[in-house]
Amino acid sequence: MSIKIGIIGGSGFYQMDGLTDIKEIEVETPFGKPSDALILGTLEGKQVAFLPRHGIGHPLLPSELNARANIYALKSLGVEYLIAVSAVGSLKQEIEPRQFVVPEQLYDHTKDRNSTFFGDGLAVHVSLAHPFCPHLNEFLHTAALEAGTTVHRGGTYICMEGPAFSTRAESQVYRHLGFDIIGMTAAPEAKLAREAEICYTLLACITDYDCWHPEHDAVTTDMILDNLRANVEASKQTVRNAVAKIADVPRTCSCANALENAIATHPDKIPPTTRHRLSLLLDKYLA
Ligand SMILES: [Zn+2]
Repeated sequence: MSIKIGIIGGSGFYQMDGLTDIKEIEVETPFGKPSDALILGTLEGKQVAFLPRHGIGHPLLPSELNARANIYALKSLGVEYLIAVSAVGSLKQEIEPRQFVVPEQLYDHTKDRNSTFFGDGLAVHVSLAHPFCPHLNEFLHTAALEAGTTVHRGGTYICMEGPAFSTRAESQVYRHLGFDIIGMTAAPEAKLAREAEICYTLLACITDYDCWHPEHDAVTTDMILDNLRANVEASKQTVRNAVAKIADVPRTCSCANALENAIATHPDKIPPTTRHRLSLLLDKYLA
């Protein structure tokens, strides 16, 4: 049986509460191993697959994540809807710690990450004008409201390389450019989900004001950790609310056919090894 809903937990979100009939599986992909074993189970009556993005115990830096393996592993289980959760910093006064954002846009400011499944003789260019699935965003936003959170809909997430946080100069530039929140993981996750034709949405949970805020120095690590813990509880409830509804809806967004007009290479020119390695993504179009 295929599992249609995937959940990726961020910092502090290493297990999915409420999951029953739990089964843990190790998945190998053509791109190596995911961050950890995938946890399969039933949540709100639905089959789901959960993956802690940084691994259990958080051994992985954002730059060390094998996002290709993570997304490919979820795709191989049949995942069509992916809810990702991330701890982020706020670049706007009105987006406060312990509040949530369901962003609409993504600005990739990372420097050294592999952000495509393709290459090796196969050129594919997917549309990323809307990097988050608009339909799934709507579900997630409603689910966050139902969980009693203060949630902002829309806005732009800038993804930085890390692992160090921004300098004050960088933070101020990002604010001038109009970005709303800053994190280290949505790129290339969103891009790869699109290439895998998976609907992707992100629950961004605010832990702090990055470092631009004049009172930032007054914020202690303890306060940030308290915010993180509070966010994790509320984000788990939000995810449960979203899962309860998602799979009942027919999939009408364009994410499901993202590769339809995106494959530039003539089928006869695709090297057999590349074709074979990516059969999970390509069979629908090239079989
Ligand atoms: Zn979609």
